[in-house]
Amino acid sequence: DGAKLDNKLPYSLPKFREDEWDDNISYFIEKKLRVWCHLKNRHWEPGQVQSTSGDKASILLSDGSVMAVPVGELLPANPDILQGVDDLIQLCYLNEPSVLHNLQYRYAQDRIYTKAGPVLIAVNPFKEIQLYGSKLATAYKKKLLDSPHIYSIAETAYSQMMEDEISQSIIISGESGSGKTETAKFAIEYLVMISGGNNHVESELLQTSCILEAFGNAKTLRNNNSSRFGRLIEIYFSAEGGICGANVQAFLFEKSKVVQLAHGERSYHIFYQLCAGAPSALRDKLKLKGASEYNFLNQSNSLVIHNVDDAKKFHMLVKALNTAGISERDQEHAFQMVAAVLWLGNITFQAIGNGNNVEVVQCEAVINAASLMGCSANDLMLALSTRKIQAGKDKVVKSLTMQQAIDIRDAMAKFIYANLFDWIVDKINRSLAMGKEKTGRSINILDIYGFESFEKNSFEQFCINYANERLQQHCYRHLFKLEQEEYELDGIDWTKVDFQDNQECLDLFEKKPIGIISLLDEESNFDKATDLAFANKLKQHLKANPCYRGDREEFGIRHYAGEVIYDTSGFLNKNRDTVHPDTIQLLSSSSEDLLKLFASSFANQSKKTASSIHIEISDFQKQTVATKFKDVLFKLMQQLESTAPHFICCIKPNNKQVPGMYNNDLVFEQLRSYSLLEVVRISRSGYPTRMTHQEFCLRYGVLLPEDHERKDPLSMSVSILRKFDILPEMYRVGYTKLYFRVGQIVVLEEVRKQV
Ligand code: ATP
Ligand code: MG
Repeated sequence: DGAKLDNKLPYSLPKFREDEWDDNISYFIEKKLRVWCHLKNRHWEPGQVQSTSGDKASILLSDGSVMAVPVGELLPANPDILQGVDDLIQLCYLNEPSVLHNLQYRYAQDRIYTKAGPVLIAVNPFKEIQLYGSKLATAYKKKLLDSPHIYSIAETAYSQMMEDEISQSIIISGESGSGKTETAKFAIEYLVMISGGNNHVESELLQTSCILEAFGNAKTLRNNNSSRFGRLIEIYFSAEGGICGANVQAFLFEKSKVVQLAHGERSYHIFYQLCAGAPSALRDKLKLKGASEYNFLNQSNSLVIHNVDDAKKFHMLVKALNTAGISERDQEHAFQMVAAVLWLGNITFQAIGNGNNVEVVQCEAVINAASLMGCSANDLMLALSTRKIQAGKDKVVKSLTMQQAIDIRDAMAKFIYANLFDWIVDKINRSLAMGKEKTGRSINILDIYGFESFEKNSFEQFCINYANERLQQHCYRHLFKLEQEEYELDGIDWTKVDFQDNQECLDLFEKKPIGIISLLDEESNFDKATDLAFANKLKQHLKANPCYRGDREEFGIRHYAGEVIYDTSGFLNKNRDTVHPDTIQLLSSSSEDLLKLFASSFANQSKKTASSIHIEISDFQKQTVATKFKDVLFKLMQQLESTAPHFICCIKPNNKQVPGMYNNDLVFEQLRSYSLLEVVRISRSGYPTRMTHQEFCLRYGVLLPEDHERKDPLSMSVSILRKFDILPEMYRVGYTKLYFRVGQIVVLEEVRKQV
């Protein structure tokens, strides 16, 4: 038998470039191998090629029907043994339908995690799955399990940190609603479970998510629990491996949500939780009403979240705040600020005099807001409806227009809430640090908004996408370097995989003096500049950059994940992010310590150290939002550079947030935007198919003559390989495993089938 087989050797798999058939189709016909046919509606069906004539192939589909399909619409399918592989690098044919099929096949069995080379893919199940808990954590810890999992990533990070004493990072990316925050929580839970102790920091760490989500998450059209800020959680470990401290950094908090909501969206959870769950004493003190009574909340026709009990969430929040060591007094002050913001939103204005100017309508909103803000109703009304202007030596008071008054009210509400959020983060950090110094051993978990491309994209998307460009470069550089080093070490030659470096796009953002951020700052510092002037300036200076495209008040940037068109309207104001000096003055004279604190920290941000708050707006040479963010991002990248990274890519299988619904187009779009196929190509230019000697002997041992001496698995494997006459460069023999080049497994399977 063996001899007969030998005659047919050597087998060598046709060299496919995944998407090119060349002459290989005859091989597929001869061997009756499966292919994918591209039918209408971007739908892929498995089938078998029966014959070809011209550029058409006749395909036997799985339902028994035969169809003529252009050869160009066919792609090779993987053999059955590769059905649902753990790691996409094991696929012989790395094409769109094969990858999608593999992910979907696993997803249908609740195997939501799959590796794409060094990257972990997590497909959101939108339902509870039995994949977590201390039993499983122990199994991963003891290395009894090694299937792809967030636990396995966390375990690798932990053990590498302990062994090499190098800090690690777990970088989680993905679209809104893809599961980044949940994944980050599972990683933290794992680290808490396996790092032993049961100390205070650990329980606090687990509670921080609840607090951050109450104040920083909101229901959007994409996600009922959408994080409206990016966060880096640093967890510090002692030499013994226990958690000894942690720190949270929050970036790019979206404060516009406080005052403006799209239809069907909600503001931050805390507003509804407080309205629904505050005990009556607190309710009286804060003059609270139901959420539907507040203009900031009732504007979007969405007050509740399906299956969420806000009152219950409020009680959980209070528990979490207690665990995090935030005093009852501090909690009450925080809730007071939340209520103040709500009442501010109910303040309205009415026209006076010739109708161009306004005054505040006197009503309970003004009284309640003022009392919660620790100021007099009169001062609040003045700050909202007038402006003090320097006229020669004197100050004159000028009434505001309706729009100006509304803008000032909204800016005040946003200012208070955004500062409250920062203050909460700061409180959490104080309690998590426990006064310990940072150790050299840490695991950093990054959960930051993914790339965004909407119908209308504004300054927020501009910042978010800029951050994603930076992260993408970090990811690429790392993955690319990693593989290159490994091959060089092994003395293996490999074909370089083309990937698009995004340096050019980053330059477009960052170059001085003619990058977008520089030009934006230049215009922002100029009082009379308009958004249109900014758009024109971009056109004038950047038109030669291949990543830029200008068009009237819009401009397009060619990102790694596709082109996004940004509408410049509002850019300058959002970048300036000014608060009216009268507002700062009002807050600094408040009897509320928190508001005083917010006002003074604002004044401290100004470059000129102001001796008092009583200075004009032009004196606040505040750093612009874009530049501040750029600096934060640089620091973040620096911090990440010094760690060993682990990448996780969360994928959203449908836009409806429902279980069991898997939209191939949507999934592929995400794989493409994160260039996951390229990542896999880079990694598998080595020896992606791996099998232990035992597995190999079990499956292919039949190929040895019956009288063959059955020795240890390793030498048996070698004998089988010899029998096959596989070209030596197609495999490597390790102590425990065999490593094969892409495609070799197909050859082995072919032979096995014939025995
Ligand atoms: P955003 O960018 O809007 O913050 P996100 O990527 O952080 O989105 P998550 O909030 O983590 O998304 O996930 C959205 C929802 O998906 C969760 O509220 C949860 O219902 C579900 N989900 C995500 N991952 C899992 C998981 N592993 N198991 C069960 N449900 C999950
Ligand atoms: Mg999130």
